[in-house]
Amino acid sequence: MNEPTPGTMRAMVLEEPGGGLVLRQRQVPVPGPRQVLLKVLACGVCRTDLHVVDGELPDIPYPVIPGHEVVGRVVACGEGVALETGARMGVPWLGWTCGECFYCRNGQENLCDQARFTGYTLDGGYAEYLLADARYCFRIPDGYDDPHAAPLLCAGLIGYRCLRMAGEGRRIGLYGFGAAAHVLAQVLRWQGREVYAFTRPGDVEAQDFARALGAVWAGGSDRLPGEPLDAAILFAPVGALVPAALRAVRKAGVVVCGGIHMSDIPRFPYRILWEERVVRSVANLTRRDGVEFLELAPRAGVTTRVEIFPLSEANTALARLRSGRLTGAAVLVP
Ligand SMILES: [Zn+2]
Ligand SMILES: [Zn+2]
Repeated sequence: MNEPTPGTMRAMVLEEPGGGLVLRQRQVPVPGPRQVLLKVLACGVCRTDLHVVDGELPDIPYPVIPGHEVVGRVVACGEGVALETGARMGVPWLGWTCGECFYCRNGQENLCDQARFTGYTLDGGYAEYLLADARYCFRIPDGYDDPHAAPLLCAGLIGYRCLRMAGEGRRIGLYGFGAAAHVLAQVLRWQGREVYAFTRPGDVEAQDFARALGAVWAGGSDRLPGEPLDAAILFAPVGALVPAALRAVRKAGVVVCGGIHMSDIPRFPYRILWEERVVRSVANLTRRDGVEFLELAPRAGVTTRVEIFPLSEANTALARLRSGRLTGAAVLVP
């Protein structure tokens, strides 16, 4: 059963490079085959949204609505979708894949040659409604209200994929202690591992936040903890952190870059990579990551800290994220 929907909706739209978001009235879209129309209940603000707004990602199809940490309620279903009206679903970054390319056929749909991404090459959740391909949506665990569930859908999920790539080591460094790190730190602690939190030098508030979430060590990214790390995960988009993290990991240690965009990595001596240290990136997510993480998060007792902004204040939320003046994650609520 589909419920009647209003004809228009409010959306925060990116119309040109560097222009910021503008509030527009849009037609509420109609779901096609395999699509679901969701009423947006909450949408997280991710660093990737900043890279979209700043035009740092290639081939942005202006105008576009950002937002890929979407919690929504099913309003209408297209052909072939059997979701019940009112069900609470999450829409992540990975919005569509071809199912046919080498990567799709080999368990790496996150690298699909033709992948489409929510809030980048597909309209996202900075709006009152959005369309999503139902096959890429996740059920939201019951224990989370809408705003607190939103950051799980990218910050949580990408962090989880980064952790998978970081391996089974005990001492894990997290560079940049924002939305993703604050979720991952709780998972690590639940797994009995040690969190080493690296922040901007002098950011005592973020270091205290990390310790409150169980970090055994917190300090500036210009420092080294007493013991070498088994792995480091970089959430801050700062290329200079790559050699810094390489210096902090042990032989055969892994440095995982979790962001979609990063400033240039400065040149560094080969000896800090020598001894089988690894630098790698993590791109996007697979549906398997999402299912696994959303099953694990409630068991691990993961909670999120959020700051709520009205939809029309999306530019303010982005500015706060840019300046580092957020503790936890920003979430837009229409
Ligand atoms: Zn593909
Ligand atoms: Zn994201």
